[in-house]
Amino acid sequence: MSLTDIQERIAVAEAKAGRAAGSVKLIAVSKVQPDARVAAVLEQGQRLFGENRVQEAAGKWPAFREQFDGVQVHLIGPLQSNKVNQALGLFEAIHTLDREKLAKKLAGAVQARGDCPELFIQVNTGEEPQKAGVLPADVDAFVKTCREVYDLPISGLMAIPPVDEEPSLHFALLAKMAKRNGLANLSMGMSGDFERAIALGATHVRVGSAIFGERVKG
Ligand SMILES: *Cc1c(COP(=O)(O)O)cnc(C)c1O
Repeated sequence: MSLTDIQERIAVAEAKAGRAAGSVKLIAVSKVQPDARVAAVLEQGQRLFGENRVQEAAGKWPAFREQFDGVQVHLIGPLQSNKVNQALGLFEAIHTLDREKLAKKLAGAVQARGDCPELFIQVNTGEEPQKAGVLPADVDAFVKTCREVYDLPISGLMAIPPVDEEPSLHFALLAKMAKRNGLANLSMGMSGDFERAIALGATHVRVGSAIFGERVKG
């Protein structure tokens, strides 16, 4: 696989779903990838990337941003509230808002900075005990709390379906929850299932290994 293959498959999936060309954003998930692979994908013109650890992003993206214009990095992994300020300096979007304590921290930090990253609420659609995310039954109330209590603009919802289940059921559930809350964006779909996610309305797909190759375990 390569970047162009994935871009083509996204275009085909958009067309099949009757969606406008370019309506799906490809987030190239560069976590744990060697810098040379990331640089190669930047050279091919990709500018939107995803990282799941604050520290790792801090170690690599400031230098890449100096070399390449227009880079955007999205946080797709858990955010500890004591790293909120650091995260706001590193990411254009946070996909993993999942608890009130974090909403409160973000609200304070955003006010102090005067600008807010794009925010997605992570939903634990499979209700897996080990997984982060708001439970489906709590989503509507949490969206309301973020908006009304903390004045945070919420852009969309994000989910990582359970590995052993058909992801389409989870994508459909996430789309339904977004719709009834008036949320336009859906961060869903990874290397193995992004076409199915696009069929069900994904606006942001997070694709790692299909672009960069298998992650080197670190
Ligand atoms: C690693 C990761 C991805 C990318 O996974 P691939 O299967 O390599 O495409 C997507 N989303 C999240 C939240 C991840 O942590």
